Amino acid sequence: MTLTNPASQAKSAHALPSYLNADQLGPWGIYLQQVERVTPYLGSLSRWVETLKRPKRALIVDVPIELDNGTMAHFEGYRVQHNMSRGPGKGGVRFHQDVTLSEVMALSAWMSVKNAAVNLPFGGAKGGIRVDPKTLSRGELERLTRRYTSEIGIVIGPNKDIPAPDVNTNAQIMAWMMDTYAMNEGSSALGVVTGKPLALGGSLGRNEATGRGVFTVGHEAALHMGLDISQAKVAVQGFGNVGGIAAKLFAQAGATVVAVQDHGGTVYQPSGLDVPALLKHVAEHGSVKGFEPAEVLPDAAFWGVDCDILIPAALEQQITAANAHQIKARMVIEGANGPTTPEADDILHERGILVVPDVIANAGGVTVSYFEWVQDFSSFFWSEDDINARLVRILREAFAGIWQVADAHQVSLRTATFIVACTRILQARELRGLYP
Ligand code: GLU
Repeated sequence: MTLTNPASQAKSAHALPSYLNADQLGPWGIYLQQVERVTPYLGSLSRWVETLKRPKRALIVDVPIELDNGTMAHFEGYRVQHNMSRGPGKGGVRFHQDVTLSEVMALSAWMSVKNAAVNLPFGGAKGGIRVDPKTLSRGELERLTRRYTSEIGIVIGPNKDIPAPDVNTNAQIMAWMMDTYAMNEGSSALGVVTGKPLALGGSLGRNEATGRGVFTVGHEAALHMGLDISQAKVAVQGFGNVGGIAAKLFAQAGATVVAVQDHGGTVYQPSGLDVPALLKHVAEHGSVKGFEPAEVLPDAAFWGVDCDILIPAALEQQITAANAHQIKARMVIEGANGPTTPEADDILHERGILVVPDVIANAGGVTVSYFEWVQDFSSFFWSEDDINARLVRILREAFAGIWQVADAHQVSLRTATFIVACTRILQARELRGLYP
């Protein structure tokens, strides 16, 4: 028998497994760097900070389905519950060909931070399937969704972990998820997912909520910066549920949306794009490509467009050390999760460009998800005006608190949001104590 030196044993208990390593590039490494930056501000709670550096639970599932041509295909699915100290797990499910476990881990961690930042009684979770849903028929998509839901059924539930839409998932997919879970449980379970269709316990305002939140938080930030939205020029990357709706609301407030980029290309019109017409074009053609009379820009030129407000609302790691110097905007409002790398964050900070981080800027979606969950439990549904008013109140209050913390510590809004959120998470962690 070999005796282990207690000192080395203690050390190895703290050494992170390689997949959790901060040195690895990618979203999880970025998240860990963000946690490092906040740790000096956590006071005595920093003794619990390791909790934030590991997901509580990560499930990988095989999702086999029969394709329409009679053959079988296997897809890899994930559900990661990063932290549940403050309540059940909460966060979306994304269907994308590039999804990885490490990405879903980071997205789940950002949900913990986001939910705590706006003080929702939720932990953080996220799910995904490594698939390009555009290659599937509707029947294949339904079978994929149902089998995935059944596989993760052991960890989700209205009081355990509540999925919602994210990239390439929508209300119909939530309906299939809810139905599959309810059929397996043998009871109705409206609150197992949010972002459902209205006819199935969905909430008014949920579809628009993330974009509305981006607009609301952007508006608050602009007030602090002395920027008049009605005079502002806006550029948006991503024109789906987040970017499209945010662009619509900015345009309604009088802003000039000068550039939009999506997977089809970049359209530019210095006098202002007709946003309702562009939304219609995208609904009909699948992307901004071919929208007239806008100019077409090479994709890399998007970052250097003359604008006041830049809204990345697509995927992670879009603003990097390679393009952060080109940005002309006064503020970046992160509609996407994780669009800015830490190096780019520093460059923008040094250049005096305000970054309103994802974990507050796009918290509108999960806030209305929370309203949906509450409405499902009470079987009493609120009016859209009521929902929007509550959403705006929650986001404004959260943003004001974060601004104060940023001011007091002279840190970026991202670090301030992490200070507020991580303090809440670790307070809950400490009060609950370690079991056993
Ligand atoms: N997927 C959205 C997000 O990243 C919403 C999550 C939810 O509503 O649970 O915040």
